[in-house]
Amino acid sequence: MIYDVIVIGGGPSGLSATIYSSRAKLKTLLIEKNACGGQLLMIDSIDNYPGFNEGIGGFDFAVKLERQARDFNAELIYDEVVSIEYNCFFKRVITKNSLYETKTIIIATGTFIRKMNVPGESEFIGKGVSFCAICDAPFYRDKNVLVIGGGDSAIQEAVYLSRFAKRITVIHRRNNLKAMKIFQERIALCQNISVLYNSVVKEILGKDFVEKVVVTNIKTHEDKCLSADGVFVFIGLIPNTLFLPSAILDEANYIITDENMNTSIFGIFACGDIRKKRLRQIVTAISDGAQAAISAQNYVEAQKS
Ligand code: NDP
Repeated sequence: MIYDVIVIGGGPSGLSATIYSSRAKLKTLLIEKNACGGQLLMIDSIDNYPGFNEGIGGFDFAVKLERQARDFNAELIYDEVVSIEYNCFFKRVITKNSLYETKTIIIATGTFIRKMNVPGESEFIGKGVSFCAICDAPFYRDKNVLVIGGGDSAIQEAVYLSRFAKRITVIHRRNNLKAMKIFQERIALCQNISVLYNSVVKEILGKDFVEKVVVTNIKTHEDKCLSADGVFVFIGLIPNTLFLPSAILDEANYIITDENMNTSIFGIFACGDIRKKRLRQIVTAISDGAQAAISAQNYVEAQKS
């Protein structure tokens, strides 16, 4: 079995690529490690996707995309890709359990969550430390939580948590937030959220669950011990590119592509958050996926003639 297109990663960009590719009647396989949807699964409500003026739940949106891909007869398997080979006639995608051959590959593996790497962070995962507000917020009803970070994720998630927690303190290492103005306006309206600027977490303490967090002011170098029942960490993302050749990556390990999603390897394309680019949004991921599929289609057709 030789596929026309193998898409690696079932987030919004990978699902979009799969929809466009299978709709174009290319023999398409989508390989996803966990569950389709990627970071969509952690979003309570998407309110900036054009056309959904009342918002749509991230999970619901992911289900719709996956169903659309299946309706166009795309194949979907759950497995983890460990490497790719491209110096042979057909390209190969090697997973933990199998090997697949294909004319083109579309890489859409997105990013994973950055950790603070401070004492207590790993030890208290599931016992007060969380990386997903939509998954864990109900456990913190009427409790005190800290949210770490100052970007879109941290501020959006802090606003979501404010519906559950009693008191939320955002800990941010700069003296101003990085998040978009619309998120900053929303946080300003939440009476139970305050922001501690110029601060980083030094240590998370507790017996069985998180009880206290030591925070350092990076200007004065003073430490402060805050009582907290939960710590939600949103300090950015790391590209999922470990299985890829370094020749196609930039210095931060994002994949370099042109505007048609071509990488520097002929017949290998990349789309979504994994790309070196400025705007990482669902709408740009979906757009990248469509373009990657069209480029793959052009490649497959050019090989035939
Ligand atoms: P970002 O990289 O945008 O922000 C990370 C934040 O964490 C920054 O404020 C950064 O500080 C801080 N930070 C980084 N490392 C540390 C550390 N070791 N200790 C303390 N703080 C740290 O990541 P996000 O996850 O917020 O967003 C990722 C992408 O997803 C962005 O492109 C964003 O726009 C997009 N996004 C869009 C949304 C939407 O439109 N609805 C929602 C959520 C995300 P500093 O400012 O100093 O670098």
